[in-house]
Amino acid sequence: MGITGSRENKEKKPVVLIVGGGYGGVQCAKALDKTGHFFVVLIDRKSYFFHNIAALRASVEPNYAQQILIPYDRLLTNGCVVQAEVEVISPDGVKVHGREEPIQFDYLVIATGSSYAFPGKVAETQQPQALAHYDNLRHKIEQAKRILIIGGGPVGIELAGEIATDFPLKDITLVHSSTTLLYPNVFKQELYTRLQEGLERLGVKVVLNDRVDLGTTTYAHQHEKFIEGDQTFLTTKGKIDIKTDLTFVCTGAHVNNKSLKAGPLVAELDPNKEGRLNVNEYLQVKGYTNIFAIGDISSKEDKLAFLAGKQAEYVASFITRVELKKGMPEEYRPLKYPGMFVTLGRNGGAGQMPSKGAMIFGSTIVKYAKSKGMFTSQQWSSLNQKMNQAIRSTDTKQPDHNSGYEKKLNSLKHSMELTEDDARQLLAGLPAKELELGQDFI
Ligand SMILES: Cc1cc2nc3c(=O)[nH]c(=O)nc-3n(C[C@H](O)[C@H](O)[C@H](O)COP(=O)(O)OP(=O)(O)OC[C@H]3O[C@@H](n4cnc5c(N)ncnc54)[C@H](O)[C@@H]3O)c2cc1C
Repeated sequence: MGITGSRENKEKKPVVLIVGGGYGGVQCAKALDKTGHFFVVLIDRKSYFFHNIAALRASVEPNYAQQILIPYDRLLTNGCVVQAEVEVISPDGVKVHGREEPIQFDYLVIATGSSYAFPGKVAETQQPQALAHYDNLRHKIEQAKRILIIGGGPVGIELAGEIATDFPLKDITLVHSSTTLLYPNVFKQELYTRLQEGLERLGVKVVLNDRVDLGTTTYAHQHEKFIEGDQTFLTTKGKIDIKTDLTFVCTGAHVNNKSLKAGPLVAELDPNKEGRLNVNEYLQVKGYTNIFAIGDISSKEDKLAFLAGKQAEYVASFITRVELKKGMPEEYRPLKYPGMFVTLGRNGGAGQMPSKGAMIFGSTIVKYAKSKGMFTSQQWSSLNQKMNQAIRSTDTKQPDHNSGYEKKLNSLKHSMELTEDDARQLLAGLPAKELELGQDFI
């Protein structure tokens, strides 16, 4: 028997299907689950929430990676999290790898986010492999003498800061094609200056307004844009010779829209916005009242975790109001001013508040607001987990997946009219899909 939704049966709770358990997806799922009015099903290809804000710390600090892979098992009280690769998202249902019948919904929230090359994000769907990957990279960084980072956006800057803080003797060069770090003419000049000076104080050579000619470089894996072994690169304008034995290419994210391209929503992907999904002022996908897009996949606002969370809260309250017939909510209010906190290792950084005055913060404030803890314990709390307790227990036992298992099983059978086998199969998670060329990987 296939998986059917609850649309026909008004006695049952409406099914909210959320595709993507990143910052936006988990926040939306949690907010809706809490109301008790919905049966929330969150689907993600990974078995864990990936706290990628702290991923670069995991590249240098031993055992830190354990802190950024957070189990989903306590996220939802009423609904459930299903591990599956979504192949097609369509207004008629969501097709997952390993099942013929699409999963139907009353409301759909698309939160597929974006991919970033390792170590910014990681493609592995299971925790042990992801942990091993970070461990492996840390050894490579330890052994390298000369490191080149291509791209001076937030990820390139933070990676340089992490490496320079933990390995002060390494020769690190960062090359960026713009005339300032980050994106020129977006932030106050003071932010660019503070970041550049901060990096230089850590011993990083910053080369601006130039590019590294990567020629025909290919990568060992499509999702890992780093190059191992001795290389000499020539910059295109300044013709600076850079000798390196480990090179990271930190040049941007890729929008996870493959599953949308495979269905009719392809018509709403905006080619002028990197293929993000067009939404209206209520964050509804254009042309649909019950389909929403939030976070990096949405055409609204910048690609930032805190904005994905803000959009998630809005969509959760929108759906609740509509379902409880409380009238049309106000339009979503996008952030008006750009803002960003960029770390320079665990002790430094600089930031600009996303407010009219655009106040700039230096290393002391940014250290305590972000760099020291990287919001890691807050993220565990937001998934209803206690970080230290969970990490201590992972050596001896797996997280408690059984808590509330029977309740979830029954809800799944009842709300989605599944057979016992279907429901058990979904709760167990479907087999992971092998990475293909050009696949969205995170
Ligand atoms: C290294 C790094 C550091 C960053 N630091 C910050 C920061 O300090 N502050 C900040 O605000 N932002 C930061 N960002 C940006 C932030 O991470 C993104 O804006 C945020 O992750 C977007 O959240 P999201 O929920 O839209 O998607 P994501 O977090 O990308 O999550 C998408 C989820 O969807 C799942 N998925 C995708 N496709 C499928 C599919 N077909 N089937 C099943 N599951 C699927 C993925 O597995 C993933 O879990 C950083 C980004 C990087 C790369």
